[in-house]
Amino acid sequence: MSDDSDFKTAPRRGANAGMKAGLMNIGEEAKPPVAVLPNPVALFTARAARLDALAPGHAIGGYLALVAAICRAQAEVAGTLPQPPLPPIPAGDVPRLQFDRIEIGDAADVGLVSLCRILQDVNAPDAFKAAIASLVSATPAERHALLVDAVAAETADGDIAVQALVAAALQVYFARLAAALEVENVGPLVDATCPVCGSPPVASAVVSWASANNTRFCTCSLCATQWHVVRLKCVCCSSTAGIAYPHIEGHAEGLRAETCEACRRYVKIVYQVSDPAFEPFADDIASLDLDLLLKPDGWTRGGRNPFLLGY
Ligand SMILES: [Zn+2]
Ligand SMILES: [Zn+2]
Repeated sequence: MSDDSDFKTAPRRGANAGMKAGLMNIGEEAKPPVAVLPNPVALFTARAARLDALAPGHAIGGYLALVAAICRAQAEVAGTLPQPPLPPIPAGDVPRLQFDRIEIGDAADVGLVSLCRILQDVNAPDAFKAAIASLVSATPAERHALLVDAVAAETADGDIAVQALVAAALQVYFARLAAALEVENVGPLVDATCPVCGSPPVASAVVSWASANNTRFCTCSLCATQWHVVRLKCVCCSSTAGIAYPHIEGHAEGLRAETCEACRRYVKIVYQVSDPAFEPFADDIASLDLDLLLKPDGWTRGGRNPFLLGY
């Protein structure tokens, strides 16, 4: 995402409230929006393109190509199926689409089946093909149970390929619901969780948007809403002490882990200001070697990525 032209942005309350995003008065200080809602088709298309670009010659290139195919299928589902209706939102519930309280509608199951059908002919390992077959032949009630379990669980047991497909369907479902919200109503803004659905981030990015150049946004692991978190601060526990930015020697300087001594967790950070091609979700998967480097020293992932289950 090299600019924010595809996104609905929320002005920061009290500063630019009521102004349309990007329409700053001349002379007014540019302030980052509190949150940016996703454009699902553009989002999944961009993820697929980034993964396709990273895959050739990569140590896990085959896997990146498979996830790229899943993202392309997500874009197709998001672009062709009817917009899912917003489920009833419990009175006073904030975030509005709290992931473990919201009712998972039938549209999520329709999306899951559609995703599986699109992916039936993709070049993939037998276990992935078997997962598709099992999901297509399952009953709607069985798939609904998988969707509900997946959205509620931090980590789930069971078939990893099934979990990845279910998670992909949930990403489409929640991104489309998030896109239907009024951005002024999201929140409240906290560092560690998405102001729309309450999920942890997948990673964060220092963006190059004209309206918010050089500021940092987290990307939600579920609905892909982006929210502002100041830099040099742990996303997980909000500590500003003991923050460091290790990366792998010889790899791109613009992709790092933001480690926190206070909670011993890290969330990856990409610097789109140095390379606009970075995409938080895709580059998180492609930098698995950084996770493998940090894990033996006792660092724990603070970001969640359904395509890095077990790490
Ligand atoms: Zn979210
Ligand atoms: Zn921390």
